Amino acid sequence: MMERYDLLVIGAGPGGYVAAIRGAQLGLRVACVERWIGKDGKPALGGTCLNVGCIPSKALLESSEQYHRARHGLGAHGISVGEVSIDPVAMVARKDRIVGQFTGGITGLFRKNGVTWLQGSGRLLGGGQVEVKAADGTVQTVGAQHILIATGSRPTPLSVAPLDGDRIVDSAGALDFTAVPATLGIIGAGVIGLELGSVWARLGSAVTLLEAMPEFLPTVDHAIATIAHKEFTGQGLDIRLGAKVTGARVKAGRVTVGFEDASGPQQARFDRLIVAVGRQPVTDDMGLDVAAVTCDERGFIPVDERFRTSAEGVYAIGDVVRGPMLAHRASEDGIAVAEGIAGQHCHADYGTIPWIIYTWPEIAWVGHTEQALKAEGVPYTVGIFPFQANGRARAMEAAQGQVKLLAHAETDRVLGVHIVGPHASELIAEAVVAMEFRASAEDIARIVHAHPTLSEALHEAALAAHGRAIHI
Ligand code: FAD
Ligand code: NAD
Repeated sequence: MMERYDLLVIGAGPGGYVAAIRGAQLGLRVACVERWIGKDGKPALGGTCLNVGCIPSKALLESSEQYHRARHGLGAHGISVGEVSIDPVAMVARKDRIVGQFTGGITGLFRKNGVTWLQGSGRLLGGGQVEVKAADGTVQTVGAQHILIATGSRPTPLSVAPLDGDRIVDSAGALDFTAVPATLGIIGAGVIGLELGSVWARLGSAVTLLEAMPEFLPTVDHAIATIAHKEFTGQGLDIRLGAKVTGARVKAGRVTVGFEDASGPQQARFDRLIVAVGRQPVTDDMGLDVAAVTCDERGFIPVDERFRTSAEGVYAIGDVVRGPMLAHRASEDGIAVAEGIAGQHCHADYGTIPWIIYTWPEIAWVGHTEQALKAEGVPYTVGIFPFQANGRARAMEAAQGQVKLLAHAETDRVLGVHIVGPHASELIAEAVVAMEFRASAEDIARIVHAHPTLSEALHEAALAAHGRAIHI
């Protein structure tokens, strides 16, 4: 007899596994179909984020930062160390251990919450049925009252630079280099290009980023992007803007890349090349047409505010739907859709989603940029506080960057906070909470911030929005 579930989730990334667990917490009978096979050849939960995304990239960023600090950052503190070396194989093995702990952790969470993992590839059959084809070739059909598509995304291929899995790789391949490439090319100076470029540059690679757009990080607040660009180029990242890649080919173990920029046609040779030009939704070959689930021309699944697709009883969340491709956004969708299916309120607030780029200094922001407020004609005030004037940042030898706060000129409501600086990823949380609670700049200015902490920079930026910062 066919197994029937209240909720069947396809995909166990941070969208799908969170939805499955939340659904089970709310009393639904839940199964989750997941086909991922890990580096060790074993099936794994966790999706892109845990296997080849957020977690492994942050593990390598941390290792490379520690190495870089040991080599270049300790002298200022009067600390001298002997020769410092890095073993990339050990670094990657540590990353793999962390990935294994976290993907295994999701298996444990499924068990604890009574979520059934159906290992294999899911395909919609219509009429509330899904075919699941396991890695061992066995096929079963299961039924569900509600089906949730959380199949995520994959790297966008670039026809002029086809991957060869060795010299030309995507972001997943770039997490597994076992030697530091002397020269590394990266196509795309977006989030992945900057994070993975930072990892390998800190370990000694000469990194060149070829970016098609004429502007650096155009969606980031312009003032913040300008500071970040100066910091990164100062660190040695060679960022070529307005570069149109015309071809890449591997010859004698090296990659030759042809590109055109303002100086005309050029060629560059690298030991390795990473293609990081964005990601695209995984919605092909899974029976969407059979189940009458509509896709747009780019492969995204249109959904309404309750994440309902065009087909009755079929929902979609995370990287396969509109909105930023971020793990915390996918998880927020997952909770909202599960609560909606269980008869509760279904709500995800996209206005206060934090964005973070985990470079050094880090870049983090929430809400509107100054250029967006200008374009929309919203009257605003700006408060800026540089980390140079923050005692804790100076004590850390990490006083690069600033906090920039934007508030409505009439209501004083905080409209956006933009940080480039040390631990911006952690500092932004206060701004998110403030914005979620509809805080004014004055509210933040009147909250006591511990001294000496980096958080005082946000406090002072809020004071600066009213022209009354104390320390600048
Ligand atoms: P995914 O995580 O992609 O999961 C989808 C799952 O569905 C996969 O496991 C896949 O195997 C499975 N699947 C697909 N089709 C089927 C099928 N037919 N049957 C069964 N299973 C199927 N985001 C952040 O917020 N912070 C970061 O620091 C960050 N760093 C990143 C670093 C890198 C290098 C990359 C590549 C991404 C990073 N991201 C980060 C983005 C983040 O990983 C994604 O936004 C997030 O994983 C999306 O979650 P999801 O659940 O929608 O999809
Ligand atoms: P991205 O959109 O951030 O950057 C891609 C860059 O490639 C863009 O700047 C784009 O202009 C450029 N580009 C596109 N085509 C090009 C071409 N032909 N030649 C040269 N440049 C080209 O995408 P990404 O860096 O691949 O990352 C994908 C997504 O994954 C991100 O948008 C983000 O949603 C997510 N992610 C998030 C984090 C994080 O939260 N810290 C980290 C990594 C990835």
